[in-house]
Amino acid sequence: MSICAIDIDMWPVTNTQPRAPVRFNHLPLGFLSPVILLDSKAQQTELEWISYPPNGWEEISGLDENYTPIRTYQVCQVMEPNQNNWLRTNWIEKGDAQRIFVELKFTLRDCNSLPGVVGTCKETFNLYYQETDSEVGRSLRENQYVKIDTIAADESFTQGDLGERKMKLNTEVRIIGPLSRRGFYLAFQDVGACIALVSVKVYYKKCWSIIENLATFPDTVTGSEFSSLVEVEGMCVSDAEEEADNSPKMHCSAEGEWLVPIGKCICKAGFHQKGDACEPCGRGFYKSSSQDLQCSRCPAHSFNDREGSWRCDCEDGYYRALSDPPSVACTRPPSAPQNLVYNINQTTVSLEWSPPADTGGRNDVSYRVICRRCSWEPEECVPCGPNVGYSPAQSGLVDTYVTIMDLLAHANYTFEVEAVNGVSDLSRTQRLFAAVSIATGQAAPSQVSEVIKEKVQQRSIQLSWQEPHQPNGVITEYEIKYYEKDQKDRIYSTVRSKSTSATVNNLKPSTAYVFQIRAFTEAGYGTYGPRLEITTKEEATAAIVSSEQNPVIIIAVVAVAGTIILVFMVFGFIIGRRYALAVKFPGTKTYIDPETYEDPNRAVHQFAKELDASCIKIERVIGAGEFGEVCSGRLKLPGKRDVSVAIKTLKVGYTEKQRREFLCEASIMGQFDHPNVVHLEGVVTRGKPVMIVIEYMENGSLDAFLRKHDGQFTVIQLVGMLRGIAAGMRYLSDMGYVHRDLAARNILVNSNLVCKVSDFGLSRVIDDDPEAVYTTTGGKIPVRWTAPEAIQYRKFTSASDVWSYGIVMWEVMSYGERPYWDMSNQDVIKAIEEGYRLPAPMDCPPGLHQLMLDCWQKDRAERPKFDQIVGILDKMIRNPNTLKTPVGTCTRPISPLLDQSTPDFTAFRSVGEWLEAIKMERYRDNFTAAGYSSLESVARMSIEDVMSLGITLVGHQKKIMSSIQTMRAQMLHLHGTGVQV
Ligand code: AMP
Repeated sequence: MSICAIDIDMWPVTNTQPRAPVRFNHLPLGFLSPVILLDSKAQQTELEWISYPPNGWEEISGLDENYTPIRTYQVCQVMEPNQNNWLRTNWIEKGDAQRIFVELKFTLRDCNSLPGVVGTCKETFNLYYQETDSEVGRSLRENQYVKIDTIAADESFTQGDLGERKMKLNTEVRIIGPLSRRGFYLAFQDVGACIALVSVKVYYKKCWSIIENLATFPDTVTGSEFSSLVEVEGMCVSDAEEEADNSPKMHCSAEGEWLVPIGKCICKAGFHQKGDACEPCGRGFYKSSSQDLQCSRCPAHSFNDREGSWRCDCEDGYYRALSDPPSVACTRPPSAPQNLVYNINQTTVSLEWSPPADTGGRNDVSYRVICRRCSWEPEECVPCGPNVGYSPAQSGLVDTYVTIMDLLAHANYTFEVEAVNGVSDLSRTQRLFAAVSIATGQAAPSQVSEVIKEKVQQRSIQLSWQEPHQPNGVITEYEIKYYEKDQKDRIYSTVRSKSTSATVNNLKPSTAYVFQIRAFTEAGYGTYGPRLEITTKEEATAAIVSSEQNPVIIIAVVAVAGTIILVFMVFGFIIGRRYALAVKFPGTKTYIDPETYEDPNRAVHQFAKELDASCIKIERVIGAGEFGEVCSGRLKLPGKRDVSVAIKTLKVGYTEKQRREFLCEASIMGQFDHPNVVHLEGVVTRGKPVMIVIEYMENGSLDAFLRKHDGQFTVIQLVGMLRGIAAGMRYLSDMGYVHRDLAARNILVNSNLVCKVSDFGLSRVIDDDPEAVYTTTGGKIPVRWTAPEAIQYRKFTSASDVWSYGIVMWEVMSYGERPYWDMSNQDVIKAIEEGYRLPAPMDCPPGLHQLMLDCWQKDRAERPKFDQIVGILDKMIRNPNTLKTPVGTCTRPISPLLDQSTPDFTAFRSVGEWLEAIKMERYRDNFTAAGYSSLESVARMSIEDVMSLGITLVGHQKKIMSSIQTMRAQMLHLHGTGVQV
């Protein structure tokens, strides 16, 4: 029977439903939720614990503050001495727990509140446990229990609102462990107190499964000791991987808290983190490495149509080089190089080109050259092999030029220039390249190096040798040079041989001689081979007196040699007079004026090949020349491949004089052999029509060609053209030929932009030039192109050709603009005389304009020579930086003619201001009265208009008119609009 009323108004509200370990995605670290093994309060039915003796602990039903029924155990044998009342719970299976928490809620009356209980009343009770592997029946043996603690109340009573004393609910927690058996019992020993055991809760703590840093940490039971931390390895969530050397770990504390996270997992390539999971990258996105945080959009020219990609695939025709990371755009091979041009110098070819229009999206473009030597049939081409040299290299070229050396003379070559980049080798598409076919020019044979002494006698030596490795043509002769070793080569003799052996006679016995041999072809002599020293045999008898010892013989030899030299000199002088055009230096071919031939037919056949008319096929008319039509067609010579040619014809009904004049051009052209001088194939004089057959120049004359392609070339290309023309002129001037009519209209351009000098003739041919006008000195002269001394007193020289070359430079750099625009020839002559010069054309590098100005030096001795011009242009081509137009310079001519005293007329705001600038302000009223109020109206005035103003002084008329013309030209160039006159 209970004597104590249990007042439970302070009963705490708890919700201690046991919970199953669940995975929480976002539980904060330290989430504490214990695993409940026993909760008496949660049980609605009777607890049916064992109580001994039966009159001790008693199970009583009650209500908590919410009127929820609860089960309690009470005992209150305070009046009786020697109490020993036991209460034992049912068997509690401990599961994986090692450290068990026991929470007791109870009320305890203090003995003072109970009258008459002194001596027997107690205010504590004892808590025990017993470990077993299974239930042990309902008997209770005290000695099998281990005491946990003596439990006392913190407070027994509390004061109520009305001053009454209320019993206070005590909560005590005790920890047991480590436990080793499968389960245990708890026991409560009362030794004479008045207790109500309101709730008994048994639980242990766990660190609950958690995902931290993309790693899952499983449910983990805390360690057995209060201070122990259990280290737990995390497992990466799906599609994540451990970060290198940083595997994920956490520590489970005794309190069930996760502590100290170490290491982490990261989403694999193709996946990115979303919350605590890794999600695949979407279509059109990729993530190449686990280290990257985000998926990225596919770079240009790549795609993917799957999720979870670590990279994107390249579109058709696009590639990724091995070294390209997945983050860069897919690229493709470059297009072909552009504007491939070449220059031939005997057996050396230089190629130059512009970068491809499309680099394929990469900046690692380089170039490679493929050289093939072709027989006359185009399909029979073979690689050039290792004997050909390339400078700077054959492949991996960064700059857009290469020089190919040691080619064979008179051979046909094809050069392909290919632009390559990092993905060229991956592409299976067709190679794109620019190609040129080139025929090399003449070259002298290479050295004769393998000489053998066949027979050595007292007075003769027989030698034999091998043909040089590169004969570069048909060897017609060998020259054997020899001298006595002691004499060095101050005095030497030569013998010639048509074969590869020779016997040198008339030698001295017992004398050391030095021999050197060189070969001769159409192209001239090769260089001498190495010196070979041979000593003649000793003389058998002493009867023969050597020439050394006989002064008479020496005198005779000297006399004979002297006579021969004299004969040659006299003969040479006569010949020189006959062709009295230039001094002939050894090794330099000299131009011979065909006029000096009495029989012009002889001259033609001396210099031009007679062609069989059946080899020529005329295809179409391409122009009109002075003597007849100019046609294009094909020339097929026996044993050679057919070539495109231009055919100049002599119209029917010609006079003999016309025929001579017509063929004169062939006689001149036939003497030249240079890649920048138009090449004569031959003539037809023995049939009709009479024809001159010239190599075909696909792009026609340079002035028209430039006008057609206005603004389309790079400065380097234009300078390349100029270099070609200068090289052709250097050759002509070296030969002593003065052109007299050098102008862009007389330069022809082939399909590779190679420019060649053409239009050869004597002064009379200039007469055919529509630009040529009669001058006061007589004869027609193309004034705008001609040097002042040639205009004034017909002093035509290579220096006057240099002046014309400067004008050609100006024409080229201005894309075929007419020199001095619409100024009259008279005004041009006057302006030049006064020191005016053409200004730099638009976008013309200052260095080039300076070169033009140098060509236009009044003193012809001051003008550069063609050789120097070629050198200057070569330098510019090699250092393209020198060809840059400085930023900010006005590239349109400010004044049409360059002179420091010429003002910029377009800058004037009124007619008055203009008149003041030219010191003609006295006529201001005349202009106003006639209604010329704007500069535009003034710019339209003619000389008649000026005169009609009442300006009578001729000098003033000229001054004003000249200024008006300049103003007009300035306006034209500034606004690009014509001023109607
Ligand atoms: P010409 O009588 O030399 O002035 O030639 C008249 C025109 O024929 C020139 O302006 C060119 O357009 C054309 N022509 C002359 N020679 C050739 C050539 N070798 N190749 C192509 N066209 C040419």
